[in-house]
Amino acid sequence: MNKLVTGDGRTHIQSSLMRESLQDRRVTRKTDNSSDFHILPDAVLVGIGGQSIFDRGRDALLPLVDEIRALRGQHKMMLGVGGGTRVRHTISVALDLGLPIGGIAQLVGAMEELNAVLLNALLAKDGFIGMPRDHFWELPLYLDVGMVPIVISIPPYHLWEPPPERGNLPAHGSDFGLFQLAEVLAMKQLVFVKDEDGLYTKDPKHDRDATLIPEITLEELLASPPPTTILDRMLFDAWKHARNIERIDIVNGLVPGRLTRALAGDNAGTVITKARPADTPAGAPQGGAA
Ligand code: ADP
Ligand code: MG
Repeated sequence: MNKLVTGDGRTHIQSSLMRESLQDRRVTRKTDNSSDFHILPDAVLVGIGGQSIFDRGRDALLPLVDEIRALRGQHKMMLGVGGGTRVRHTISVALDLGLPIGGIAQLVGAMEELNAVLLNALLAKDGFIGMPRDHFWELPLYLDVGMVPIVISIPPYHLWEPPPERGNLPAHGSDFGLFQLAEVLAMKQLVFVKDEDGLYTKDPKHDRDATLIPEITLEELLASPPPTTILDRMLFDAWKHARNIERIDIVNGLVPGRLTRALAGDNAGTVITKARPADTPAGAPQGGAA
């Protein structure tokens, strides 16, 4: 039973944060623990690019859909979709109209919903199901019966999207949203499916001398980031402080078999890794898991 503490004109429930301001740096430091409880550690998240895959239509989508269909049953899998060209078009109209950043951020999810419906239509008969965010806690149910939930990727900041450092585009994009999802659930693997073999030294669509980076650590990437990148920059910033995700795969969804190989643990494109903090050796029991 929690003890009530009085004596300063207020009533507190005895706890480590009793009487503390949550803005006090000494207090926030005290809340640090070395590991999280892992909510869905045996599930994998596969993000399918909007502009890179969906916008290419049947030539890109149908072979990938065949591959994804074959992967069902082999992995506890969840699919995330991006919005692609409709996002770009809608954002440019919104910018033209002078919408505030939060108004712009709110639009993106609606475009992604459309791609989720397209993908769901192709895969519905095979046990794939669109999952609205309100159903988040039903995820284990879907996964346990072998269904594959399809979700949108953009994080739900909506009107609360903070002002970006530069320009007027929401900084919290779809790649970042999927990263957050995989991180909070401590999922086993996060694979981004795009239209290039992985991360290059430069954008290969613009520079012929761009070379593929098959393996890189987050630390190396942050120390010398490529001038443009295939994933949202915010993802890398968040990953610096994240506790669970240790590896991100980027594969080319236009080449059959790459996603399958990545899910089998191979490096089928680019693998970015983050060193585990020294105090949490692999396999160590996770906080709260006892
Ligand atoms: P999506 O809508 O799928 O997120 P994007 O167009 O946002 O697609 O991202 C994928 C694109 O990123 C690739 O098609 C590629 O042209 C571009 N890109 C930019 N910089 C790089 C880089 N350093 N390495 C690889 N691709 C890059
Ligand atoms: Mg993108």
